[in-house]
Amino acid sequence: MPVNPQILGKLEHSQKVLETPPLEHPAPPAKLPSRNPTRSFWIDSSPDANPLAGEGSQDPLPSEADICIIGAGITGVGIAYHLIELLNDAFLSVRRPLRIVILEARDFCSGATGRNGGHLTPAAFLEFAQRQALFDTVEAIKSYKLEQYTASLLVKIIEENGWASDLDLVEGGHINLLFTEKEATSAHKDFNMARQAQLNLDRVEWLSQEEVKEEYGAPYPGFREPGNNVWPLKLVTKLYQHAQAHAGKYASLSLHTRTPVTAVTHETTDNSSTYTVVTNRGSISCSRVVHATNAYASYLLPFLAGPDGIIPTRGQVMATRASVGSDQIKKPSWSGNEGFAYWFPRPVKDDTENPLIIIGGGREAVAPSYELYVDDDSETHPLVGKALREFLPSVFESKYDPDSEPEMEWSGIMGYTKMGDPFVGPVADLFIANPDGDLYKKQYIAAGYTGHGMPRAFGCAEVIAQMILAEISGKEWKEPDWLPQRYLTWNRRIE
Ligand SMILES: Cc1cc2nc3c(=O)[nH]c(=O)nc-3n(C[C@H](O)[C@H](O)[C@H](O)COP(=O)(O)OP(=O)(O)OC[C@H]3O[C@@H](n4cnc5c(N)ncnc54)[C@H](O)[C@@H]3O)c2cc1C
Repeated sequence: MPVNPQILGKLEHSQKVLETPPLEHPAPPAKLPSRNPTRSFWIDSSPDANPLAGEGSQDPLPSEADICIIGAGITGVGIAYHLIELLNDAFLSVRRPLRIVILEARDFCSGATGRNGGHLTPAAFLEFAQRQALFDTVEAIKSYKLEQYTASLLVKIIEENGWASDLDLVEGGHINLLFTEKEATSAHKDFNMARQAQLNLDRVEWLSQEEVKEEYGAPYPGFREPGNNVWPLKLVTKLYQHAQAHAGKYASLSLHTRTPVTAVTHETTDNSSTYTVVTNRGSISCSRVVHATNAYASYLLPFLAGPDGIIPTRGQVMATRASVGSDQIKKPSWSGNEGFAYWFPRPVKDDTENPLIIIGGGREAVAPSYELYVDDDSETHPLVGKALREFLPSVFESKYDPDSEPEMEWSGIMGYTKMGDPFVGPVADLFIANPDGDLYKKQYIAAGYTGHGMPRAFGCAEVIAQMILAEISGKEWKEPDWLPQRYLTWNRRIE
């Protein structure tokens, strides 16, 4: 295999660092999202990209709500969307509309969802062998079922509502390049074990080094799996607008951006139990709180700081122009170097246009820190930027100018967990013994997608919506057959 000038084979080491407590002990909780984030392509490349940017930021806060959702990314908006869909499906008959309020620290969807790489690709089989060994076959299979369920549901919603062209949805597949023998051997092992376990892999296609070189100009073997890319902020905007338009007689939905939540307190009186959600613009009294704050979860839930919880980790992305036309840069989205690099060409108006490539990754260049514990997206890292600039010219000969500068470059904060999987469920269930009585009883969380949230967050949001409505109606929550058990908070207790 040709030698790539990039730094290769860092995944195992980065995982070890992730699992090791930081020098600063105990680990510091995340801060509130920074006030002056870098400008991302999705949010800032056109003036009309974020019509809900400042929604509700000047309106008085309601004094009361039934459900306060903290965070307006794909998880928070997804929870509101699913609550309203489930209510419309008569999951629960309500005496009065459920008052749902979303509170967002900055502009609408300006966290990871508005700053990510734009891939909506469910993993097909990678990491199967490891998951099967660590958990069991059923649990390993559910990892892929959840992602397939979530990605297909989003694509179905997009298509049924006729949003595909507005959101630049491209169903062009995803090619994973294998740069080293070790990576290739491990991928084949995962594939074979997954196939033996009856995972449907009909749509996976192995590509030899010659085939990739001939068709795409990169001298590495790989495999193709189903995958999409999309404009994530526009997707979440449509989901919010759809939810609000369909709230109907069962719910009301409001959004207050630029309203950071600084504390959640709890009071119990003889026959009721209430939370106070404190913000810089006043407080809301409510009966349920949802933490859809992903990387920032430990700001309000400090026991989640550190390797047993959710580690803020800065990711970096840039938009760079290819030096050839789109006839030479084909549609699929890509990843390589064990997932440390991911990229895809944006749709073009005509074939003569040199496509804009959205490429993220480069954290391998700053080992051993890997940008772990960095919660500030107001800056980019120059060494990560250097790795990103060098990547495409080194992989695809003569399609990218090594001296060209990106049109935009930004950072965003991911929420890493040492297991790689999110926490989903009631916050109280994270504890063996609840340390603060009822404080966390009706607080929920879905967070910690470890840089791979687009094909998972919306499914986890559905789970939280189901749990809340089951709790309100006194019904038992029935877990969907696609949900991995290990995501659930009661299986992820913090010592
Ligand atoms: C650079 C980068 C590249 C990525 N690339 C991909 C990719 O290509 N494909 C993929 O699948 N995944 C990718 N991810 C991961 C994916 O974007 C996330 O997993 C997903 O967007 C998480 O959504 P969320 O709604 O849970 O979190 P977020 O979108 O981060 O939303 C959380 C929100 O909570 C708000 N918030 C936090 N604290 C408070 C508070 N106290 N009060 C009020 N509001 C608060 C934040 O401002 C934020 O808007 C990437 C992430 C990053 C950062």
